[in-house]
Amino acid sequence: MKEKNVVVVGAGLGGLTAAALLARNGFSVDLFEKNTTPGGYACSFVRGRFEFETSLHELSGLGPPQNRGGCYRLLEGCGVAEKLEFLPIKDFYSSIFPDFRVTIPHGWEQAAESYARQFPKEKGGIEALLKWMKRIFEEFVMVASAERAIDFIRIPVKATNLLGSLGLSVEKAISREINDSKLKALFCDIWGYYGLPPSLLSWTLFAIANASYIEHGPYHIKGTSQALADAFVESIREAGGRVHLNNGVKKIIVENMRVKGVVSEQGDEVASDYVVCNANPITTCLELIGAENIPGKYLDSLCRQRHSLSTFNIYMGLNCPAKNLGLEGHELFVNDDYNQDEHYRQTFRIGRQKYWVITNYNHADPEFSPPDTCVLVITAVVDGAPWMRISPDKYVEEKNRMASEMLDAAEEVVPGLKEHIEVIEVSTPLTNIRFSGNPYGSIVGFEYGLLGNPVFKLSNKGPIKGLYFGNAWVRPGGGFEAAMSSGALAFREILKDSKKSA
Ligand SMILES: Cc1cc2nc3c(=O)[nH]c(=O)nc-3n(C[C@H](O)[C@H](O)[C@H](O)COP(=O)(O)OP(=O)(O)OC[C@H]3O[C@@H](n4cnc5c(N)ncnc54)[C@H](O)[C@@H]3O)c2cc1C
Repeated sequence: MKEKNVVVVGAGLGGLTAAALLARNGFSVDLFEKNTTPGGYACSFVRGRFEFETSLHELSGLGPPQNRGGCYRLLEGCGVAEKLEFLPIKDFYSSIFPDFRVTIPHGWEQAAESYARQFPKEKGGIEALLKWMKRIFEEFVMVASAERAIDFIRIPVKATNLLGSLGLSVEKAISREINDSKLKALFCDIWGYYGLPPSLLSWTLFAIANASYIEHGPYHIKGTSQALADAFVESIREAGGRVHLNNGVKKIIVENMRVKGVVSEQGDEVASDYVVCNANPITTCLELIGAENIPGKYLDSLCRQRHSLSTFNIYMGLNCPAKNLGLEGHELFVNDDYNQDEHYRQTFRIGRQKYWVITNYNHADPEFSPPDTCVLVITAVVDGAPWMRISPDKYVEEKNRMASEMLDAAEEVVPGLKEHIEVIEVSTPLTNIRFSGNPYGSIVGFEYGLLGNPVFKLSNKGPIKGLYFGNAWVRPGGGFEAAMSSGALAFREILKDSKKSA
């Protein structure tokens, strides 16, 4: 016998996770998604004879059977892990800078050795830095799983590294242990994943997120992240939940400052005392609920924060294997120079970027595309605002101009690339906005500045009774692993509240 109705708005990863956990724990779940396919950013698309991964470069927090991470355990709890095949990616990342090209493996010792091989004088500092990151990560895992009062009382004593990291930028933190500016740039080269350069990025976030990759290794999902989203839908339906695709929510019904249900685009009205929004909190509060029903303080807190960066992607199906072009690894960051603040400033301009990444999807999965072909994707993190200012009649021209400039840059690193392109598709922040509904096409919600670390993020409990959030904009933040964790935190809050009201 099902206990309570819950409506979930949006089938991105946070919504899917919340819906799966709720359905498997006795709640009656209706999940509404405006798109025809589930997954939000976690999806794929087909052009010609190629299927493209839309978003995922590297999935964190899985780990091999002997060292499973939190993300794998969460997927097990959702009944999803056993439906999927996860393919390990051999290395964490590779970087090209003007003076060197380096590959950083995962594994604490292996990563330390690689950094130190390139910068032998800094060996001690590198080891200290990685040890510090590992401690912050372990303490975060401990704090995140705290449930009893005694666990919380112990936090100030047991989580000193985590608490000490809270006010630090990445640049300030790493400068305590290493000096060489080129090593610093290499150490931080993955900053694009988190959307801010080291001078502005939260050290807490960087340490936790990178540690998850180094400890458990990065993974690719066989069948793309669409397989992940589809597995979630299957699991939700197996547990009795209802997934309504191509039917968004147009209104959340609120009476006396508490949620009463939703009205869908197709006119369904579903009564519910609990609504989990995978849709971002800005659109939820302003459009689905209406500012008049939201406490001013909460609206202020939304206004105080800035959206994170979006992406410009060039998806390419090539008529030859990647190794014919000299590309070996999965994830290769390309840098014009070492000035990451300047690389960040460039993201506010439309055109050639000084920092971007090329992903080779056939590296982890040789069957990713038809025989003797490969799929490569160029991704540059960019801000959505300049794209929103382009007049519609100039959009295609600007998009093609930037794609052409980025392809010229890529040709310098991968000679012969352009002549092997069989299929090409380009996405911009406007594509992200249209597809996900996220303001500015942001990929990880609010930016991860010093106050945007996972500890200080907005709560999963919304500003009015019965409203919860599970998405990249709230605790613990964005990215695949964090968005799914956010859905799990929303589930935990509902479970607690429903027990109280039982
Ligand atoms: C190009 C790209 C590359 C990325 N690479 C990585 C990576 O390598 N590793 C990583 O960890 N992360 C990566 N990310 C980030 C990651 O994809 C996101 O942070 C994460 O998927 C966000 O999940 P979410 O739960 O917030 O939902 P979202 O993906 O934002 O989806 C929200 C969903 O809600 C739906 N919705 C909105 N409004 C309504 C409504 N009114 N009614 C019904 N439905 C609604 C939308 O249609 C959408 O399906 C990448 C993102 C992009 C775009």
